Amino acid sequence: MSTTCALCCRVVPNERIDDPQVVQEHHLRPERRAESDTVMLCRPCHDQIHAVFTNDELRENYDTIEALRDAERLQAYLDWIRGTNKLDIEVETSTRLRDRR
Ligand SMILES: [Zn+2]
Ligand SMILES: [Zn+2]
Repeated sequence: MSTTCALCCRVVPNERIDDPQVVQEHHLRPERRAESDTVMLCRPCHDQIHAVFTNDELRENYDTIEALRDAERLQAYLDWIRGTNKLDIEVETSTRLRDRR
């Protein structure tokens, strides 16, 4: 059994699945964690989502994985991440909150 990141669709190797630094659960509705749907994301994607969007934005506009995949602010990141097989990636400071309004 392998896990695929719900956002970038990269496959996480079996031996890394149990590593919380590699695979993380994202709550699609952050303000209601108990009842929120969750998706499995690789760590870079999870970091990126929370770097680019506020919880308010996630709740109002990006509470489905489809909306996140289509988000304009994630396209450059997704193009890049899909071309790499690295799982241990620090999201660069320069990309964090760059577009914060
Ligand atoms: Zn990912
Ligand atoms: Zn999250």
